[in-house]
Amino acid sequence: KAKNEGRSTYHFFESGMDAAIQKRRTIEAGLRLALAKGELRLVFQPLVGLKENRITCLEALLRWDTADRGTISPTEFIPIAEETGLIVQIGEWVLREACRTAASWPSGVRVAVNLSPVQFKNKRLFETVEAALRDTGLPPTRLELEITESLLLSDNEPTLKTLHKLRALGVRISMDDFGTGYSSLSYLRSFPFDKIKIDRSFMRDLKSKGDSLAIIKAVIGLGQSLGMSTTAEGIETEEQLAAVRDQGCNEVQGFLFSPPIGAQAVADMLAEEMANRPKLRRVS
Ligand code: C2E
Ligand code: MG
Ligand code: MG
Ligand code: MG
Repeated sequence: KAKNEGRSTYHFFESGMDAAIQKRRTIEAGLRLALAKGELRLVFQPLVGLKENRITCLEALLRWDTADRGTISPTEFIPIAEETGLIVQIGEWVLREACRTAASWPSGVRVAVNLSPVQFKNKRLFETVEAALRDTGLPPTRLELEITESLLLSDNEPTLKTLHKLRALGVRISMDDFGTGYSSLSYLRSFPFDKIKIDRSFMRDLKSKGDSLAIIKAVIGLGQSLGMSTTAEGIETEEQLAAVRDQGCNEVQGFLFSPPIGAQAVADMLAEEMANRPKLRRVS
């Protein structure tokens, strides 16, 4: 009996692996054609400045609309795009599309683009960013690049050099999902980030775990001493907003203000905000 159970467990595991590999292959094959087929699109989520009381930036987030499997989440396909190297081509499209869209926004509004560590391995990243800015006419100071902690793990020197060159151009560099990686603190020492985005897991636990508030408070304080601005991700409730505001957080992002929305909805939102300045209803 025990032998049989062992067997079926093994078979179950094996077919589970098959399904995962099969799914991965399907995604990979589809992803190779996605750009050419026009299946990729960007949505944008507002970042709201608490002092400015307005939208200061919008983060570009990738969406993939497939004919047969609906819209696929970036958390599902970005890792595959990274493994296959497709992220370099896709990432360049994201960069250009984001800059092109942002060029039509009011001049005080920036756009944030997520960069994969794999894009940094490509020697031409700096030139790619420079060309996207030049071709779209977006001033470098209106572009923010979000990178995750894992980036700095791999070959530090060329990466740091690229980051410094981008920064010298006027582009801002943000550390994304701060607090989720291994050595967040040492990264803050190795590169002068403009912005720290505190991971949304700390907001989620704000109420249940007193520790989260202590950590948020400490990170905001750290940002202040290092001259880096802080953004709280994943703000969903008024309570979370009040908590991070009380701690002196500079900027917030989350479903409380807006989910990621399409380019046309962004244009409408920014136009309405310009008309109603200086007030933004959600934050007052
Ligand atoms: P991220 O850069 O940390 O982006 C924030 C994610 O949190 C987005 O998920 C956003 O929809 C979600 N989010 C925002 N506010 C809230 C909230 O209040 N509550 C909750 N529960 N979630 C919220 P999304 O769009 O699914 O993107 C997931 C991740 O995929 C991103 O995390 C980013 O790491 C990656 N990603 C997305 N677009 C790109 C891209 O163009 N290039 C690269 N390299 N990565 C991308
Ligand atoms: Mg991000
Ligand atoms: Mg993030
Ligand atoms: Mg995140």
